[in-house]
Amino acid sequence: MRRETSFFNFSISKIISSDQPVLDQARIRLLYYGFWIVFVAVAGLLLSVYFQHQEILTITATIALISVVVLFKYLTYRPQWRQISHIALVLATLLNLINVYITLQTVDIITVQIILLTIVFSFYMLGQGWGLFYSLLNLVPVLLFLVLEYNDSYYIPLRVEKVDQSTVIISLFANFNIIIFIHSHFYNAFFNNIKQLKETGEAQQKLNADLEAAMQKAEKSSLIKSEFLSVMSHEIRTPLNAVIGMTNVMIMGNPRPDQKENLSVLKFSANNLLAIVNDVLDFNKIEAGKLIFESVKFNLVDLLQNICGSHMIKAEEKGLAFHLKIDPCLQDRVLFGDPTRITQILFNLVSNAIKFTKTGSVWVKAYCHEDRHNNITVTFTVKDTGIGIEKNNLESIFEPFTQESITTTRKYGGTGLGLAIVKRLLELQGLHMNVISKIGEGSEFSFNMEFPVSTEKLDGAGDGKQLSNENDGLSNLRMLIAEDNPVNVLLMRKLLSKWSISPTIAENGERAIELVMYGNFDIILMDLQMPVMNGFDAAIEIRKLADPKKAHIPIIALTAAALFDIKEEVFNAGMNDYVAKPFKPEELIEKIQYLVAPVH
Ligand code: ADP
Repeated sequence: MRRETSFFNFSISKIISSDQPVLDQARIRLLYYGFWIVFVAVAGLLLSVYFQHQEILTITATIALISVVVLFKYLTYRPQWRQISHIALVLATLLNLINVYITLQTVDIITVQIILLTIVFSFYMLGQGWGLFYSLLNLVPVLLFLVLEYNDSYYIPLRVEKVDQSTVIISLFANFNIIIFIHSHFYNAFFNNIKQLKETGEAQQKLNADLEAAMQKAEKSSLIKSEFLSVMSHEIRTPLNAVIGMTNVMIMGNPRPDQKENLSVLKFSANNLLAIVNDVLDFNKIEAGKLIFESVKFNLVDLLQNICGSHMIKAEEKGLAFHLKIDPCLQDRVLFGDPTRITQILFNLVSNAIKFTKTGSVWVKAYCHEDRHNNITVTFTVKDTGIGIEKNNLESIFEPFTQESITTTRKYGGTGLGLAIVKRLLELQGLHMNVISKIGEGSEFSFNMEFPVSTEKLDGAGDGKQLSNENDGLSNLRMLIAEDNPVNVLLMRKLLSKWSISPTIAENGERAIELVMYGNFDIILMDLQMPVMNGFDAAIEIRKLADPKKAHIPIIALTAAALFDIKEEVFNAGMNDYVAKPFKPEELIEKIQYLVAPVH
């Protein structure tokens, strides 16, 4: 960076700064000290020729001396080394040619020195292009002069009669000095430049190594965080399973009305806690990039009815009108997509709509935005007449752990993770959520999602999972439960006793295989995490049994992990289905009925 200096500055420290490249600093220093040396040399020469009464030489030396002083002053005032170098080179070239063609009319050792000087100076100061230019500018006319002189065809009467030996000595001495100075100075500069580059390279290498170490540390700590959350949520879900399960058992045991009320509060709170644990776990999975979207066949109408079913009751309890509007074009269509994720998104939006609406209505709408035969774009809208969201907060509510205000937390509870999960689930599919909201009037969340359409049509009989609500026929069911946790065993026994099922218990996977080999069972409920042998390995072994009847026993996995990644593993191990703990009794019974039904 060039600094402004006063006209009367003579100091080099004011025209050089450490943020300039090393080579440019060297160039300025070369000019500064070079002008001193040249000044002394030219002054010596001037005195010498003056006392010899060499008029032309005295004039030339005087002009050279004045030029050196002016250029030096210019340098210390405005250190434009490029410009100054050009001027100095033009002057040197003129001086050289005047000497050769006019004053001396010969090419002697001093001429050679001057040419050498201009070559070295121009290359070092201005680089290759200008170096070549000034070198040729000095050399070619001199060579031409030699040709002319060879033919004896050159003479003009201004030639100096004889140059004194002292002048020659001073010139020789000064020129060699300058050549040596330029070389040594630049050798140093190049050396420092290389050293500096090496140091920068080493510093860069160290920085890269530090950066890599920091990144590895960050990745590791993120992994630890993610594992910690998974383990914690698993640990929390296990006792929660018992709490919810026992509550269900008690509710099913015809409690007194006052007990029933307490039990529903207990169930509500435990379910809330479970939702929070699940949210944290889901968010953690999404952040860790472990989420994979699946593409399975499903019917959107069925899905929407399922999602809204439980919410309709909640809305009714709050005195809200709940409207589910589905475009008729979606009826009977089989789409490809990820129903689990769509459920998650809509579930969150509808829960919020009901939660943040005191009076009025909640709408859930799905209509065909675009229907291109084998591809359909559906617009989903969840609208309410609730408290609304301030314009400034429309972005921040999608941030994790962010709620509109402290009052929201106090009044409505929640973790502020719901919308963050929704947003990320959409973003991972390249989709965007639109929000329109007005304080006191309500909010509308909407997004478009594209689905490939299967050529199949729904036959109206559903997917075959139409179940009878009768429990008859289950009482004789021979069930094996592989479960190591005694609380869970107790819970399962109590629950199943409602359907008069008395299960056999195996405390680990190995024992389960043994029991299957020597006993007769209709279905197995398989916990996945067990000592000695886990549920996956046990299922794989059972599927390998020689007796085909035993090898094909229906197996339902009981998993404490959230649904995200377990599904595939469960099916890969040859199990038929899974239920996530804490399971809903109806869900478990439905799955059992489905798997043991005679059609299977
Ligand atoms: P949570 O519901 O756990 O608070 P969310 O991420 O689902 O977290 O929502 C974040 C915040 O966005 C809520 O706390 C609330 O302030 C605001 N919000 C979300 N949906 C609505 C809605 N339908 N009406 C009004 N405010 C809403």
